[in-house]
Amino acid sequence: MLQKIIIVGGGAGGLELATKLGNKLGKKKLASIILVDFNYIHVWKPLLHKVAVGSLNEGNNCTSYIAHAKNHYFKFCLGKMIGINRIKKTIILNELINQDGTIIVPKRELNYDILVIAIGSKSNHFAVPGVKKYCNFIDDIFQAKKFYKKMFNLFLKISMNNNLLTEEYNIAIVGGGATGVELSAELCNAVDELHRYGFQGLKKNVLHVTLIETGPRILPALPTRISHRVHLELKKIGVKIFNNTTIVKCNETSLLTKNGEKIKSELMVWSAGVKAQKFQEKYFDLETNHIHQILVKDTLQTTLDEKIFAIGDCASCLLKNGIYVPPRAQAAHQMATCTYFNILSLIKNKKLKSYIYKDYGSLISLSKFKTIGNFMDHITNNSILIEGMIAKLAYLLLYRMHQISLHGSIKTGFMILSTGIERIIQPRFKLH
Ligand SMILES: Cc1cc2nc3c(=O)[nH]c(=O)nc-3n(C[C@H](O)[C@H](O)[C@H](O)COP(=O)(O)OP(=O)(O)OC[C@H]3O[C@@H](n4cnc5c(N)ncnc54)[C@H](O)[C@@H]3O)c2cc1C
Repeated sequence: MLQKIIIVGGGAGGLELATKLGNKLGKKKLASIILVDFNYIHVWKPLLHKVAVGSLNEGNNCTSYIAHAKNHYFKFCLGKMIGINRIKKTIILNELINQDGTIIVPKRELNYDILVIAIGSKSNHFAVPGVKKYCNFIDDIFQAKKFYKKMFNLFLKISMNNNLLTEEYNIAIVGGGATGVELSAELCNAVDELHRYGFQGLKKNVLHVTLIETGPRILPALPTRISHRVHLELKKIGVKIFNNTTIVKCNETSLLTKNGEKIKSELMVWSAGVKAQKFQEKYFDLETNHIHQILVKDTLQTTLDEKIFAIGDCASCLLKNGIYVPPRAQAAHQMATCTYFNILSLIKNKKLKSYIYKDYGSLISLSKFKTIGNFMDHITNNSILIEGMIAKLAYLLLYRMHQISLHGSIKTGFMILSTGIERIIQPRFKLH
C-alpha cells in the first residue's frame, strides 16, 4: 500500500526533508509526501535579523511552498498543527481563518503512516512580566517585517528631530546569543547606511544599541576566545554590552534589571533562549522536556512512537557524550538527512541508523564590519578561529548549501546571479 508521509514544518529541516523524499519517493509514486506549514513561504531563519533591519530583501530569498512542492513531487497543505491522534494516526489542523474572522477551511484531520514533526522553536520569554506585550521578537518573517517598520519609523523620527544635542535614543536587545549579537551589528550598520541615504540626524552618538546578557559573557555557547573577539568588535562599532544583567520586568519604555536599574529604550527585542511549542494535553501525548521539545531516540524516532520522528529545534536529542543537540540550522540539516535515510529503511523494514551530530563550528556575522567564528577540526578535535574573508565566505556558503539542497546547484547559481544583479540595480537597504 502507498505510504503516506506527513512532514509538519517547512523550515531548515522539514523543507529539506520534504524535497529529498519528494524527489526520491514522490517522483516514482512510491509514497505520498505532504508538507504542512501555516505559512505560504519559507525563509531560512538565520537570515531573519537581516530582514528585520532591511539589509536583505526577503523577496529574493523566499521559497513558495506551493511552487516548490510541484517541482519536487510532494503536496503542500496550508495549516497549523494543533495536535496528534496516535490511535487514529491523524494530525489535527486548526481552522484557516480569513482576516475578517470568517472561516475559510474548518478544523480537519490528515491521516499519516509516518509523521515527521519539524516545527522549530521560538524565543523563550521565561514568563518575565511585560516581555510578551512590549518586546519585539524575530522568530518568523512576520515578526521580522513588523520590527523593520518600527525601526524605520524610529530612525525617521530621530532624523527629523531638531533637539539632537539633548535627546538620545536606545534600542535594547535582550539575549547575547548569536541572534542578539548579529542583530546588534546589523543595527549599527543600518544607522550608518541610512545616514548615508540622507537621514542626517541619525548618528551613533544619538542612537545607541545596547546588548544585554544574563551570563558573564556574550555567545555563551561558543568558545571563550570567539566570545571575547566578538565582544571587542561590537564595542568598536559602538554597541554597549551589559553582561551579568538579568531582566526581570519590562514596560512600554524600559527594561528593569534584577539590580533595580532601568534601561530606557525606544525599541526592545527579546532574543534570549528557545522553547518549543506547547500543545494541549488532550491532543498530544508524546514525551517532552521542560521547554516542550519532543524526546527522541538516537534514530530520531520519538520515544513513544516509532512511526513519528521529530527533528530540528523541536526535538530533544541526547548524544552519547551526555550533551543535547543544540538548536542550530546545521543540526536541523543533518537531522533531515538522517531522517531521510531512516524513513527509507523503515519502509523497507531495514535497521535504522543512529543520528550523529557533527559540529562543524559556528560563524558570527557582524554585518559589514567583520565575520568571526570557529571551524572544528574533527581529526585533531581542535577548534580553529577564523575571521576576515575566509569566515565571510564560509558564512555565505552555509546559506548557499541550504539553497542547493532545496533547488540544486544550477538554480542556486541563477539565484546568486540574480542577487548580484539586484545589488547593482536596487539600493543596498530597504527604504520603505
Ligand atoms: C534570527 C535568527 C538567527 C539565527 N542564526 C543562526 C545561525 O547563524 N546559525 C545557526 O546554525 N542557526 C541559527 N539560528 C537558528 C536556526 O535558524 C534554527 O536552529 C533552525 O532554523 C531550526 O530549523 P527547524 O527546521 O527545526 O525549524 P524552523 O526553521 O524554525 O522551521 C519551523 C517551521 O515550522 C512551521 N511551523 C511551526 N509550528 C507549526 C505548526 N504548529 N504547524 C505547522 N507548521 C508549523 C514554521 O512556520 C516554520 O516554517 C537562528 C535563528 C534565528 C531566529
